[in-house]
Amino acid sequence: MLLKRIEIEQVEPCFADETKIRVIARIPVDVGELLPYLNAILANATYVGACQMGKGSPGDETTYSADRPALTFTKGQRLVTVYPRRVTIAKADDVEDAEETLAWLVDKLNYAYQHRKEIEPVTEGKVKIRPLDIFGLLPRTNCRQCGEQGCLAFALLLLQEKRRLKDCLPLYREEQWEGKRKRLEEIIHSLGLE
Ligand code: SF4
Repeated sequence: MLLKRIEIEQVEPCFADETKIRVIARIPVDVGELLPYLNAILANATYVGACQMGKGSPGDETTYSADRPALTFTKGQRLVTVYPRRVTIAKADDVEDAEETLAWLVDKLNYAYQHRKEIEPVTEGKVKIRPLDIFGLLPRTNCRQCGEQGCLAFALLLLQEKRRLKDCLPLYREEQWEGKRKRLEEIIHSLGLE
């Protein structure tokens, strides 16, 4: 057995849905090398390998970086992102719901570890979403209603989890952006962002 439990470290309101919570939990062992194996056994997971998406704060593992792989997937309405030593779960109902999801993840990680010799690791299809990809789908009016200098700055901060898509007010208030908003929602949810 690789691990018995993943402990919740932090609980905060969920950006995407104020009726839900977001938790950050600590994985007691480094599972970075196991993520491609977990990717292989989870149908809807996306492996983000050498994808440079912002440096984050020193020691902050819950931000994508060139040298930190991550695996992101949805479980029900929950958005789960697994890093080598951390897990974030957004849109969890409550702490009990998050703990059930973590217990499920422990089982999956143990299974991947025990069967790693039989499992073909999957690192293909890496998502390489860059700030310019996000920028291209924003209104690009630089209206500053998000509080930033412009759309490119907003795109950078969105990928660093320092902004939420909902902070771009025109996307949600103006019908002309509906198609782009839906596409952006798909992208950021697939990355475990909000
Ligand atoms: S609110 Fe949206 S459109 Fe306006 S500057 Fe910010 S990201 Fe660009």
